[in-house]
Amino acid sequence: MIDRRGFMMASLAGPALAATASPALAAPAPAALTLPCVISTWDFGIAANQAAWAVLSKGGRALDAVEAGARIPEADLKNHSVGRAGYPDRDGHVTLDASIMDEKGNCGAVAGMEHIAHPISVARRVMERTPHVLLVGDGATQFAMEQGFPHETLLNAESEAAWREWLKTAKYRPVANSEVGTYGHGGAAAPLGVPGGKSNHDTIGMLALDAHGDISGACTTSGMAWKLHGRVGDSPIIGAGLYVDNEVGGATSTGVGEEVIRNCGSFLVVELMRQGRSPQAACEEAVGRILKRKPDAKDLQVGFLAINKRGEVGAWAIQSGFSYALCDGHKQDGLLASGSAT
Ligand code: ASP
Repeated sequence: MIDRRGFMMASLAGPALAATASPALAAPAPAALTLPCVISTWDFGIAANQAAWAVLSKGGRALDAVEAGARIPEADLKNHSVGRAGYPDRDGHVTLDASIMDEKGNCGAVAGMEHIAHPISVARRVMERTPHVLLVGDGATQFAMEQGFPHETLLNAESEAAWREWLKTAKYRPVANSEVGTYGHGGAAAPLGVPGGKSNHDTIGMLALDAHGDISGACTTSGMAWKLHGRVGDSPIIGAGLYVDNEVGGATSTGVGEEVIRNCGSFLVVELMRQGRSPQAACEEAVGRILKRKPDAKDLQVGFLAINKRGEVGAWAIQSGFSYALCDGHKQDGLLASGSAT
């Protein structure tokens, strides 16, 4: 059975992707985007970018743009890796993670939140209406409901069917870090493969620069399908799945969150850019850091996407197959394949 990521990449069409798909080589860095602009992870980032563009093109704020953009895959019933239709954890709970960060360094996040379809908007409320940065689990759901977000059953029929299929052969077996990639056991019939495996991933990470040159970012996911209940990945961890600094630029990540958290991935990319690296070089160095510390991570997938304040973009992944969407005044539906280390 072809897994979802394999299917998505197989079905990707478009000259941009075909022209740059060169897994073993450095992908040609795209020309710098003009301001305002927005970039995001994966092919579903195209639709998200267009929602963000509706804000940016009218002179709107980058923060409003990334929230509007991230809400698109969150609402998409065909997207099983973000938001409302996300695949559940091992025990059948749909638990969502998200973070948001603005040009002033304000940030908010939720992790392991159930029953609320738009975690990115709850993350923004955490940022703007509480003195805190991160709310988790039931507390996050409670806060969201107090803020007027509807309480919903998120596990839909399609996601439940996929989970039940996985359960038929799943032998979940948490083991040590050294075996990441095998800490769940999917079996041949697993529709999405192994939790922590290279194909069991997708997250939208989004970075926007508005007409004033101010940057904001958003990151939202249902996390690794079939994960242990309570597992939280990189996406809601500021500095791991997302980081922006208005003096430098921003970065976001997708893939096996554990590897990103261990290396403070997005913070690392931004700090490397601060030291003078291009976004492309910074993403490559961050991937290299993961592989240097743990060579076995070559069997996993992690991708970084970054932009600096001049609108220069970079992307790099451990494995081929990572794509990213670009949007500015010249072209609103750009899609490129990232290069990769292996
Ligand atoms: N990075 C996310 C996580 O580890 C998932 C993903 O990108 O697929 O939760």
